[in-house]
Amino acid sequence: MEAARKFASNEFPKVARECDREERFPMDVWKMAGELGFMGIFISPDYGGLGLGYLEHAMVMEEFWRADPGVGNILLAVFGSELIGAYGTDAQKEVWLSRVAGGKAILACGITEPNAGSDILAQKTNAKRAGDEYVINGSKQFISNGSIADAVLVMCVTNPDAGKPTDRFSFLLVERDRDGFSSQKLKGKMGIRASDTAALSFDDVKVPGENLIGTDEGNGFRQVMNLFNANRIIAAAQGVGVAQGAFDRAAAYIKERVQFGKPLASFQGIQFKIAEMASRIEAARALYHKAGWLLDHNRTDPGLISIAKLVAGETAVRVTDEALQLHGGYGYMDEYDVERFYRDAKVVEIYEGAKEIEKITIAREILGRG
Ligand SMILES: Cc1cc2nc3c(=O)[nH]c(=O)nc-3n(C[C@H](O)[C@H](O)[C@H](O)COP(=O)(O)OP(=O)(O)OC[C@H]3O[C@@H](n4cnc5c(N)ncnc54)[C@H](O)[C@@H]3O)c2cc1C
Repeated sequence: MEAARKFASNEFPKVARECDREERFPMDVWKMAGELGFMGIFISPDYGGLGLGYLEHAMVMEEFWRADPGVGNILLAVFGSELIGAYGTDAQKEVWLSRVAGGKAILACGITEPNAGSDILAQKTNAKRAGDEYVINGSKQFISNGSIADAVLVMCVTNPDAGKPTDRFSFLLVERDRDGFSSQKLKGKMGIRASDTAALSFDDVKVPGENLIGTDEGNGFRQVMNLFNANRIIAAAQGVGVAQGAFDRAAAYIKERVQFGKPLASFQGIQFKIAEMASRIEAARALYHKAGWLLDHNRTDPGLISIAKLVAGETAVRVTDEALQLHGGYGYMDEYDVERFYRDAKVVEIYEGAKEIEKITIAREILGRG
């Protein structure tokens, strides 16, 4: 983690404010990170990765978000390689995992639609088999890396007549240059503005049958549930990272800032805030470490994963709020990083399962489906 911390703290501050203001993806920093091996943490060494676990990937994500959440999302360039690694064909792995691990390609993963967010079974984007090809029609919304990705893993309805709704979906890989595929960058996000987000449109997009992820149709829902397990741990690490980053800055500031003739850090009311913030961060970190370790040792616990994501999201929002408060009026100015971290933190409570959906999962794990 030392290498991740050093890289992020050296490189991210050079571009963080500018990329936030301009809503620009830091392409050069992503390339550098790829050359240093950060894009291949959980990818098999057979494809140029490090062959470590999701926990190590999440811990690097924490360090990246601690330095800057928007720029830190360069690590989302690998989003979708989890699916290819777990279910893809040898050819898909050879082409895509090697390129992603080397920082030569960016992936995106399209699940959310304009009218299907938390309710993922309501998705309508469809892929119809026509001979050796699939023809895809529909749209996806809020897709990370959507306007810069070399390929998108798209969740589609391939088996609309399957008895069980969960058997209706498959993932298809769509390369950017396919006719009928278009993306529109979504500007005006509250936070993580260096991270690319786009709306995608598929208008009779033809892909060959071999672009199906996995050998059989109808497995997309099970695949996405497994993807959520890994990605909720990674999102939890983002929450811990943004909280830790804001905390570091606040702890330094209160030692310097003098009011009533003393540094702010000498007042007990301020010390209590620091103690509470530090306690929340440590608790959230311990939760995602445990959930990640279990996942990497084939003892996946979806309830614990949702608890980790829920607590990390709340920690991110509360700690960044308190860090800004500790900066007073200066914290409200974009000259100070805490203003940006405060805006960046909120997304952890929304994506990879909004916090209400995490609560539904936690309750279901405890009480059963009823
Ligand atoms: C910056 C950003 C990046 C993203 N990247 C991606 C990406 O790469 N790929 C992708 O597929 N998606 C992505 N998303 C989409 C994200 O996963 C969704 O926004 C999220 O799942 C919530 O869906 P929704 O926005 O449609 O909200 P809705 O589902 O409409 O929910 C609105 C509110 O209602 C609550 N709610 C919904 N159902 C219930 C219920 N049954 N009980 C109680 N409360 C409920 C929700 O928790 C939420 O608070 C991204 C979103 C953002 C903001």
